Amino acid sequence: MRYSTLFAKTNKNAPSDGDSANARFLVQAGFINQLMAGAYTYLPLGLRVLDRIKKIVREEMQAIGGQEILMPALTPKEVWETTGRWDSIDVLFKLEGAGGKEYALGSTHEEVVTPLVQQYVKSYKDLPVAVYQIQDKFRNEPRAKSGLLRGREFSMKDLYSFHLNEEDMRAYYEKSKQAYLNVFHRCGIDAIITEASGGVFSKYSHEFQTPTESGEDVIYVCDKCQYAQNREISEYKDGDTCSKCDGGVMRETKTIEVGNIFPLMEKFSEPFGFTVAGEDGKPVPVIMGCYGIGPSRVMGTVVEIHHDDRGMCWPKSIAPFLVHLVSLGSKDDEKREEILEKAGGLYEELHKAGVEVLWDDRAEVTAGEKFADADLIGIPLRLVLSEKTLAEGSVEWKRREEKEAHLVSLQDIIEQVEVFVKE
Ligand code: ATP
Ligand code: MG
Repeated sequence: MRYSTLFAKTNKNAPSDGDSANARFLVQAGFINQLMAGAYTYLPLGLRVLDRIKKIVREEMQAIGGQEILMPALTPKEVWETTGRWDSIDVLFKLEGAGGKEYALGSTHEEVVTPLVQQYVKSYKDLPVAVYQIQDKFRNEPRAKSGLLRGREFSMKDLYSFHLNEEDMRAYYEKSKQAYLNVFHRCGIDAIITEASGGVFSKYSHEFQTPTESGEDVIYVCDKCQYAQNREISEYKDGDTCSKCDGGVMRETKTIEVGNIFPLMEKFSEPFGFTVAGEDGKPVPVIMGCYGIGPSRVMGTVVEIHHDDRGMCWPKSIAPFLVHLVSLGSKDDEKREEILEKAGGLYEELHKAGVEVLWDDRAEVTAGEKFADADLIGIPLRLVLSEKTLAEGSVEWKRREEKEAHLVSLQDIIEQVEVFVKE
C-alpha cells in the first residue's frame, strides 16, 4: 500500500485517551480512532493487525476441533431469565425494542449457544461438540480504559464445548490450554496459566495472564515452576513458598488477562434442560466448558509489551505489513525521479514475491518525519532508498528494534527480504 493514499495517517498530538502505551501509540499511529470511552474504530492499519490475530485464533481453535459459527449480538430477555443472569450480570447492556420488548447485547453467549446446540444434539453419539465464534461483545464496564485493554465493545473469541461426562470435558479443557498458549506465543506474548475463582460450579477457572507493569491484575507466580494464582482468590502473599514444587518462591506480578477458560459443568445445561439420550436410552445431563480470548485486548497487550519511547514494534506474525519502504526526496529533480522509480520497482518486485509492503511515497515530507512515522507505526523491517544509497546501488536496511542500519545491494535485496520473512 502507498502511504500517500492511506486516509488515516499518523498524528503528532498525543490523544486525550492516551492513558496507556497502547492507547497513545495506536491512536497516534492511525491504527484506531476513539468514538467514545470504550469504543474504537479500527482504521486500515489497525484492522490488518486485528484480522491477523483473529486468523491465528481461528487456526488454533480449528486445530482442537472448534466449528465456527456466528450468533446474534442482539439477544432476547427470556434466555437470560432462564439462567437468572438478566439481573445478576451487572455489566449487561439492556435495550427496549418495539412494543416494550426487552433485549440485551451479548456480553457472553452461554444463553444463546446452549439452547442452540440443544436443538441439534440429541444422543450420546452426537457428543462431544465444540463451537466458537469471533464477535464483538458488549459490557457496560464502569471504567472503560487503557485503550483496547478494557472496552465497552470489544472483540471476543468464545468457544463452548459439550461433553457426555466430566472426564471428557477435562481432557478437552487440557487440550484447550495448549491451544491458548499457542495463540499467545504466535502473537508474540507470554501467558502464564493462572488459577482463578471458578464460581459456584467448579473450584477453579484458568486465566492466561501476560506479565507487564501496565497490567491491572495481580497474580502470584512461582519463580521456579510457574505455578500461579490470581490475587483475588489466593492465600499466597509475596515471598511465600510455592506449594507445588520444591523451593520455589511466589512473586507478586502485575499482569493483563488475555484469556480465560471455565469448566461450566451443568451450570447452563441444567436451566435449559439440555440432556442427551445415553447408551441405555436414559437422559444424561450435558457437561460444558467455555473458553474466551479477547483479540482486541491481545492487540493492546502486544503494544504494551512491544514498544519503546518512539513507538510500536510489531512481531512479524501480526504486523500490518512486513516491510516499510521509505523513499526520500532530493533537491535535484532528476535524482528525485530516479529514487521514486527505483522505489516503485522495488515495491512491485516485493509484491510479486508475496511480501506485504507499506511504501511511504510522500513527496512533501522530510526524512526526519518519515523515520519518526516508521518508528511509530512499528513495521518490523524498514528499507530506505535515498540519493546516498542509490549512489552505491543499495538500500538501507534496519529492523525496527535495531539502532544501526546497514546497506544491502539492490541486487540482493529481494532474496534477503525473503529470508527475513521466513526466519
Ligand atoms: P476482566 O476480569 O478483565 O474484566 P473477564 O474475566 O470478565 O475480564 P471473560 O468473561 O473471561 O473476561 O472474557 C474472556 C476474555 O475477553 C478475557 O480474557 C479478555 O481477554 C477479554 N475481555 C473481557 N472483558 C474485556 C473488555 N472489557 N475489553 C476487552 N477485552 C475484554
Ligand atoms: Mg476472565
